[in-house]
Amino acid sequence: MLEPQTIETVKATAPAIQANAAAIGNRFYEMLFEKAPELRNMFNQTNQETGVQPEALAYSVYQAGANIDRLEELRPTIERIAEKHRALDVRPEHYGLVGETLLEAVEEVLGDAATPEILDAWGEAYHALAEIFIQKEAVKYEEVKAARGGWTGYRPFYVAEKVPESDVITSFYLKPKDGKAIIPQQPGQYLTLQADIEGEPYTHMRHYSLSDAPNENYYRISVKREDSENGNPAGIVSNYLHRDVNEGDVLLFAAPAGEFVIETEEMPIVLISGGVGVTPMMSMLNTLVQEDTKRNVTFIHAADSSKVHAMKAHVEQLADTYSNIEAYTCYSAPTEEERTHKMFDKEGFIDADWLETVLPDEQADFYFCGPIPFMKVVNEILKDRGVPAERRHYEVFGPESTIE
Ligand code: FAD
Repeated sequence: MLEPQTIETVKATAPAIQANAAAIGNRFYEMLFEKAPELRNMFNQTNQETGVQPEALAYSVYQAGANIDRLEELRPTIERIAEKHRALDVRPEHYGLVGETLLEAVEEVLGDAATPEILDAWGEAYHALAEIFIQKEAVKYEEVKAARGGWTGYRPFYVAEKVPESDVITSFYLKPKDGKAIIPQQPGQYLTLQADIEGEPYTHMRHYSLSDAPNENYYRISVKREDSENGNPAGIVSNYLHRDVNEGDVLLFAAPAGEFVIETEEMPIVLISGGVGVTPMMSMLNTLVQEDTKRNVTFIHAADSSKVHAMKAHVEQLADTYSNIEAYTCYSAPTEEERTHKMFDKEGFIDADWLETVLPDEQADFYFCGPIPFMKVVNEILKDRGVPAERRHYEVFGPESTIE
């Protein structure tokens, strides 16, 4: 238990952390990688270069500090981060070095403002939070180890099939090299790939949502090729998978993880995706079909055009077969042919007026995934529609951040 004085000091200084977030985050990672260069293998190095990860870290530290007296409100965030930690094989011994380095970065950036009293208070708060994570993660490691077909660390899978789904998205069907059982994922969960790519100085870890219904034979991930844009380098791992990985090749994966999963409810369910955000939605849709759901399902997908519209035929076929499934498509850059043949339901981006015409009238459970600007728009529309936070579920395909 933290002393009231410690809590007060941490809360009072959280805004200073937020104001210096980028500087603290950058300095923290510089110092961390100087002390322990091997940790570069664990942290996404592209996110370091683009500054996304340092900002995400400092944001999490600020959030933790500002809410240190009501951690219950951070429960979903803590669960999400603990799941990612388990997937990345974060262990108790990592917490000491991270905490020590974080305090050094705060001290350096805040200068004289970081008095010994303030640093001690943040040190105690960090320790308390680290204990929560260590305990939660210990339970998660145990659970995944004990489950039938579960494992800890990274397990070899061979690519049983490599199937193009659109001009930019390709699916990989993965089967365990040892031929033993695999733990079925919960629909919406992701696998974590540890990629050792020839010529790359580090191992690259990337998360990929599972894109098919749970089963005991294979996992399917569907990966978008991130091309070079505006002079920025092309995505390392997605291009490696598209270009170099073929059927029969072996890849290493951590067991399924993630909190973005369908909750058992009776009410209608709405799945909204943009671009490659379709992957967890596909897993959810296929699971609902597999379970012979009686729920009304509305599946909405936004893409530029049919060229990059993955799994289109499959979704159309499900909507044709099942009377409780409705599927809608929005194209932001349709071709003339798509216009002529009315191959979409809405031209342009998703907006409130159009959504109103396709959403169920009753209360529904909403799941959405896509680029951050897309999710911010969807989230705002749903909020305006009065959908409470507990019915707005979303996954960010990047470091921990908020769309609120
Ligand atoms: P990176 O090398 O990580 O680059 C990322 C982007 O940054 C690229 O667009 C690249 O062009 C750009 N970039 C690179 N260097 C710079 C620079 N210096 N300045 C500016 N920009 C730069 N992806 C999927 O395709 N399918 C999924 O189902 C999926 N599920 C996910 C689930 C979760 C929970 C999470 C967190 C992510 C998921 N992702 C998914 C994203 C995936 O993990 C990778 O981030 C994605 O494949 C890009 O990785 P990469 O190595 O190809 O690109």
